[in-house]
Amino acid sequence: MKKRVVVLGSTGSIGKQTLDVIRANPETLRVVGLASGSDVRTLAAQIAEFKPEAAYCVDGSVARHVGEGTRIFSGDDGITQLIWEVEADVTVVGTPGMVAARATMAALERGQDVALANKETLVMAGGLVMEAAAASGAAVLPTDSEHSAVWQCLHGENAAAIRRLILAASGGPFRTASDRELAAVTPAQALRHPTWSMGAKITVDSATLLNKGLEIIEAQWLFGLPLAKIDVVIHPQSIVHALVEFVDGAVKAQLSHPDMRLPIQHALSYPERLPTHWGGLDFARAPVLEFSEPDAVRFPCLALARQAAETGGTAPTVLCAADEVAVELFLEGSISFLDIPRLVGRALDAHTSTPVESLDHVLTVAAETRQWLMESALGFSVTPAEAGVQRGEEDGFRAPARGELSRE
Ligand code: MG
Repeated sequence: MKKRVVVLGSTGSIGKQTLDVIRANPETLRVVGLASGSDVRTLAAQIAEFKPEAAYCVDGSVARHVGEGTRIFSGDDGITQLIWEVEADVTVVGTPGMVAARATMAALERGQDVALANKETLVMAGGLVMEAAAASGAAVLPTDSEHSAVWQCLHGENAAAIRRLILAASGGPFRTASDRELAAVTPAQALRHPTWSMGAKITVDSATLLNKGLEIIEAQWLFGLPLAKIDVVIHPQSIVHALVEFVDGAVKAQLSHPDMRLPIQHALSYPERLPTHWGGLDFARAPVLEFSEPDAVRFPCLALARQAAETGGTAPTVLCAADEVAVELFLEGSISFLDIPRLVGRALDAHTSTPVESLDHVLTVAAETRQWLMESALGFSVTPAEAGVQRGEEDGFRAPARGELSRE
C-alpha cells in the first residue's frame, strides 16, 4: 500500500526535496495533496506531474492551469479545508515561518501523522502540538536533520536512558569571522551557507545560530527532555547531525551527507528504510571531523533562545516572531547583521510571558510582537554601511550589551 502524502509548501526548498523523494519512490509513496503560497507556475507543473487529488494556492488561480482531476482550494482556510477533506497518511509541513501552525494542528487533530520540517510551530506551540498528537494518536515525525538524527539514534533505545542530546551546528558562514567582519555582513554573504542549501530565512538563522536555538526548543518538545539535557556542538563539516549520550556513557551519532532528502525520506518511510541513489560516506577519504563549543559572545542568539525556552509560555513565540521581523529587515538592508540579536533581545526583554492558552493566543502574541517591532525598529536601526563605519572603524568595535538597548 502506498503512503498517501500531502505536501505543504511544495514549491519551497523542503517541498521540492520531498517531491524528489516521492519521485524516487513511486512504489511506496504517492502525492495526494499539494499546497503553495503563490508560486503558481511551479505548483501547476507539480500538479501536472503528480496528479494529486487536491491542491491549494492563495487565490485559487492555479485552477486555470490544471485539469478536473485535482480539486483546488484557496483563501485563508483553504489549507485546513484541504487537510480535512483529503485522506492522507502523512502531511509534510515544509511551509516556512509561522503560517504552518494551523495546518499542523488540523492534520494532528484529524489523526494524520505530520512530518514537521517547520520549526516555528513546535517552538511557539509545542505543548499544543504534542497534546493534539497524543489525543488523536498521530505522530509528529522529526524532519529537521538534527532531530531526525536524534530520532534515528533512539530507535530501539529507552528514552529514560538518555543522559543528553547534542545537536550539531555547522556554525554558518561566519563561524570564524571577526567582530568587525560580523558588523559589516551583507545579506548576500549571510545567504551563502557553507554546507546546507536551504530557504532564505533559515539560512540567515543558521548564520546567527538562532536556528540552533530554535532547534533546542524543538528537541525539548519532540523528545520530552529538559533544557539542561540538550547541548549544541559546532561541527563545520555537517556530517554528524546529532549525537545521543546515554546514562552509561555510550554515545550514538547519526552521520550522512548534508542532504535534507534523507531526513525527509526517513520520516516518510519510517519504520522502513528505503534505498537512495546517492552514495554513503567514504571514511577512508573522510575529511577530519571537527567539534568545538559555540561562541556565545559572538553569537548571542543561542543564549537568547535558551532564555526564551527557560522562561517558557509565550516567550518562545516572541523569539520566533521577533526573529522573523529582524531577518526580514536585515534582508531588505534596513538593519545590520548584529542588529538581529539586538532586536530579538529587545523584544524578549519587553515581553511578559504568560502560559500558552491556544493557537489563537500564540498567533496573537506573534502578531503583536511583529507590529511592535516594526513600529519601534525604525528609530533603532542602523544600515550595514553605517555599521561598518561607526562600529568597526572609529574607536574599535564593541558589541552592545543587551542592557544598553534603549526602550520606548
Ligand atoms: Mg536543522
